[in-house]
This record gives sequence, structure tokens and C-alpha cells, in this order.
Amino acid sequence: MKNFLISIVTISVSLTAIAQNNGIRGFLPSNIADQRKHEAAAQQTISEKEAEQTLFMLTKEPHHAGSAGGRRVAEYVRQRLKEFGFDSRLAEYHVLLPTPRSVSVTILEPVEKELSIAEQTEFHPEALIPFNAYSPSGDVTAEVVYANYALAEDFQSLEERGIDVTGKIVIARYGGVYRGLKVLEATKAGAIGVILYSDPSDDGYMAGDVYPKGPMRPWDGVQRGTIRFAERYPGDPLTPGTPATKDAKRISLEVDPDMPEIPCVPLSYGAAQHILQTLEGPSVPRAWQGGLPFTYHFGAGPTKVRIRLDMDFQIRPIWNNVAVLRGTEEPDQWIILGGHRDGWIFGAQDPNGGTAVLLEAARAISRQVKAGWKPRRTIVIAQWDAEEYGLIGSTEWGEQLRDELKKKAVVYMNFDATISGPTFGASATPSLDLFLKSITADVLDPGKDVPVLSAWWQNQNKDEATRLEDIIPETAAINVGRMGGGSDHVVFQNHLGIPSMGFGFGGPGGIYHSYYDNFDWMKRFGDPGFRYHAAAARLAALAGMRMANADVLPFSLAPYADEILKQLEGIEKRHKDSWPATLSLDTVKQKASQWKTMAMKVDEKIAQPERPRNLKEINSLLSLLEREFAVEPGLEGREWFKHRIVVATGYESVGLPGIHQAAESGNWESAARETRILASILDSIIAMTSRLDALL
Ligand SMILES: [Zn+2]
Repeated sequence: MKNFLISIVTISVSLTAIAQNNGIRGFLPSNIADQRKHEAAAQQTISEKEAEQTLFMLTKEPHHAGSAGGRRVAEYVRQRLKEFGFDSRLAEYHVLLPTPRSVSVTILEPVEKELSIAEQTEFHPEALIPFNAYSPSGDVTAEVVYANYALAEDFQSLEERGIDVTGKIVIARYGGVYRGLKVLEATKAGAIGVILYSDPSDDGYMAGDVYPKGPMRPWDGVQRGTIRFAERYPGDPLTPGTPATKDAKRISLEVDPDMPEIPCVPLSYGAAQHILQTLEGPSVPRAWQGGLPFTYHFGAGPTKVRIRLDMDFQIRPIWNNVAVLRGTEEPDQWIILGGHRDGWIFGAQDPNGGTAVLLEAARAISRQVKAGWKPRRTIVIAQWDAEEYGLIGSTEWGEQLRDELKKKAVVYMNFDATISGPTFGASATPSLDLFLKSITADVLDPGKDVPVLSAWWQNQNKDEATRLEDIIPETAAINVGRMGGGSDHVVFQNHLGIPSMGFGFGGPGGIYHSYYDNFDWMKRFGDPGFRYHAAAARLAALAGMRMANADVLPFSLAPYADEILKQLEGIEKRHKDSWPATLSLDTVKQKASQWKTMAMKVDEKIAQPERPRNLKEINSLLSLLEREFAVEPGLEGREWFKHRIVVATGYESVGLPGIHQAAESGNWESAARETRILASILDSIIAMTSRLDALL
């Protein structure tokens, strides 16, 4: 490993002597050797065996939010981080967590049949039976309509065919979009109940052998999951914008506009087939046909179904792990690495591969601290609770520490479902694109014996003419994704304006949110040998150590300006027919271009800082720059979301959300206001960048 790293570094230097700075952006020449030494040593101490053991311990028992098992796993994580020398604590909140008392789905016609709800396994007594969190209790009986993926266009298609959904129960398959959006669309179409099931063509036997023979979803595997469509705010539904402390002021459930209105229940395809098979009416088009061995029909009916749900809506305690390794020189600059700890059942893939990765990274960092490495900045390792219910633990913590985080947080790195196979992927705030690429250049992809960066490039580029050794961070043609919704970075990026990133190794699987997402699945299919856990822990350790100790924070600003220019172009193109002549985007485009020119110069100086004049001011400017993008008031109608460049909607990320949502609804007055907001953001950013240029 060590020899390999040295050879990579040599190649990089020969190719980009200009900007590469021996492979570590942001370090003064005199500090590189020591950092390099500890980074390499940290990598070497990370072991597959230890990662495996850690994941085993995390996934021994069900540990959904608010459960006794959840509390025990929190305690385990707290102990481990304490052993690693962190100041390791639990932060408790009291949040609304419904659990199912009873769930039943009965076919009444044409032939009466009670469907099985839970996986047919030796069900652990502490495991929750399948349910959709925040579905109301209810007892509804109606004819059934099949609605494909329950997207807006699917309901439109039903309407065009004259199939009325009003008063019916909709059955729809999982996939494509966030499940809460499906329930919302069904409600808008007039349905009185929803059944969501996993179709075998999506992640079952049509996609590969099913568990336990293969990694895909078996006949009885059910996808659980929350259905609250957090359009206005994520986190605890009862405490919008404020931390859910024990005696926090709470709104009543009825006031939450994002709360689902109709009962919804998840089924396996083994159960759902009994409903689908007896539906009549016209047969569905090819695109709607799933993988069950009969022709699908729209309905409505004659199949008639009764759904009965009894949910226990209670305020229950949750526990975040927050562990701090105090920085020696700049303790008030926080490098935060976090991920959720709660799983729906055993959660080996979602989320605890990420938990194991973070614990192994923490262990590696602690070993370097013992060997004399000192973090200049503070490293915070967090494990959130109740993410599955709606990003609750991270959101409540972010809301509680809002002012402090706005001052001190440098970066948030998210680790959720980090490991499910061998294929690397990542997403980030644009200012972290280059940082991500540079850490991946220094860790080996265990399956391919090339740096993760090269393997990542190869996934996206099938061009065999380029030699993998020639792939370097500065020039690698890799598309870094933007962060959408559905995980714990949302509060940091969207609400607080903290640069965020996440990465992982993915692969095929059909056990998502089911009883079968367990240690055995991971050991046999997700990551045999735990080599990708170890590789991800190396990346995490490197990312933490590098951000903590860089002399100049290794952000790169030009990709941000590029992203803004790209989004502006996209919006112009999309609305070119309706865009009013009085509203011009030329000024913001010109400002973004101006920023880009300055940013390129500053990025080069960050790569190889020579004699920066005031490191404290430089780093403060760099870490506060992102905050400029998150402005008050927040987005119209969803004020909790402050960021004006990229924001989450469902699982998606939306670029320039203020202008975008105004243009979508044809509200040109609001579009003009949002354009002015963007212009004034760019003015401040340009001023900050100009100051950086002078100091660097
Ligand atoms: Zn997750």
C-alpha cells in the first residue's frame, strides 16, 4: 500500500507540477511530509476484520428510532468513540414517532383473502412489522386501481383513459421518486387509501437471484419507509424550525401541512400479486407491466380491498451520538462527519455500513493522534437517530446549534448506506468537487487495484484510450452529483449553508428497508471480505484529517461558478417561450462569469499556498463563503429551506430553486425578486473572493 501510494504521488506530480502541490491542496510545503506520513499510516491501520466486527456489533438486533435496541446501539457507539479518545456524548430529543399496533390488508372480492403483512421469517420480537411512517390510522374499503409508479403523469394517464381514482384504493409500485410524493399524488387524484409494493421487475427476481440465494428482493420482502412529504420542513413534524427538546413548544398534528391524509401500507410482491391478478378493465401499456407472471390491468375493481391500520402516534425519545476531538489551534472550526444510526430493522446496508465506516475512520484517526498527529481544527463525529422517519436527529441538532454551526462549521460529510457493492459514487456542494477527487486519488479501489479516482472515472467514461494512471483530480472528467434530499446533509446544506458531501460504494440489491437488510446479506453479497468498508473508512479518515489540518481550507470555487452558469442556462432554455422580456438574467450571468475568473485564480493559489498573509482570515472567509448562499427569508412557501443555489425536493436536487420555482409557476414578480437576491449574493461572494485573492 505504502509503495503504491508513493508511485501515484510521483505520477501526479510529474503531470501537474503546477497545481498539484505534491498531492495535497491547501498545505504549506513545510507541512506536507508530516501530513502525508500520518495519512499513509492511518490508511494502513484500517482493517477489513475490524470493520466486519464493528458492523456485526451494530446490526445484531433491530434498532429503529426510539426503541430499546436503538438505545443499546447508541450506547455501543458512544463507548467506542470514547475509547478512541473523543469526548463522546448522547444528545436526546423528544419527537413524534408513530409505530404500528396492527396492520391488515384483506381482499373482500372476488374471493376473500387475508394478505400477509410481515416477512415470513423468524420475526424478531423487537422488529416493527412493515408500515409507512406517518400514515394515519384508518379503516377503508374500496375497489382497487393500479397506478404504475403513482407519478403525477401516471394519474394523468389514468384520467385520460377515463379511469376514475376518486374513492378508490390505489395500488402502485415503489421506485422512481420518494414514496411520500406517490401518496401525495394519489391523494390529489381522490384516492382514499394507498398500497405500495415492490415489483419483481424493479428489485426482485427479474433483476437477479433473490435472497438468500442472491442479493435481490424475495417474495416476502417489504420496503418500509416514511411517507411524510417534507416539502416545507424535515425533522420532527411538531417542532418546525426549533429543536425538539423535552419541553419545546409543539404544534398540533393537524396543523402540519405535510402530514399524509390517507392510510398507506407497504406490501411484498408475494402479497400484492393476489390483488393485481384479479384486477380487470383494460390491460396496461408495456411500460406499466411489471414482472409478475400475468398481464396487469388497470381496474377499477372488481377486486375490492379493506385496509385497516392502527397507528400509535407518540412522542418518544431519540439519541444522537455526538463525539468531539478538539482541535489544537483552531478549535472553533468544526469538521463534521455524520450519518444515521437508526435502521428500519437490522440496517446492515442502510445505514450501518456508513456507521461502521465512520467508527473505523475514527479509530484510525485516534491511532494517529497517539502517534503524534494533532488535529488543528475540531473533528466532530455524529451518529443521528430517526433519520428514517424524516431526517429527525440531524435536523433537531442543526436547529438547536443553529447559531454556533453557522459560525463554526467548515464542512459536513454524510455517510448513509455507504456500502452495498463495488461501484464508487459521490455528490457534493460544488466547492468540494475537487477535494473529493483529491482524496479518491490517494486511496486504492480494492477490486480494481487503481486509485478510487481512476475507478470512478472509468465508471463514467468508457474511453479506453486514456491510461488510468493519467487520471488526476484537476483534469479528470468526472461528473460529481449534487446533493438532493433523503439524508442527513439536508439541514446542513439547505438550512444552514454548510458545504456538504457524501460518497459510497454501490451495487445491486433488493433488500432496501426490509427484514433482509442484515449482516448476512452484507457479508455474502454487499461486501464479501469487507474490502469496501475498509476503503471507505480510508477515504473518510483522509477527508477528516486533511480538512482538519490544511493550512488553507482546500475548497475550489470555480466549479461553483460553473454550476451557477449551467443552472442559469438551463432555466433560460426551459422557459424560453414564456420568459418575459422585462426580466433579464444577463446581470447575474455576467456576475457569475466575473466570479469564475476570480475563482480560478484563487483556486490555484489555494492549491499551492506560498506565503499567505493571514491564514485565520483566509480560512474564515473560505468557511463562511457558502453561508452567503443561504439567505433569509427562505424560499417562498418553504421558508425553512434557505439555500439559493441547490435545494432538496423529495430525493431530487433543484438548481437555483428560488428562480426555478417562481418560473415553474409563472410568478414573474417572484422570479425577478429571486434574481435580485442571486445578484446580491454574487456581489458579496465576489467581494469575499477578491479579498481572498489579496490575502493568498
Ligand atoms: Zn439511510
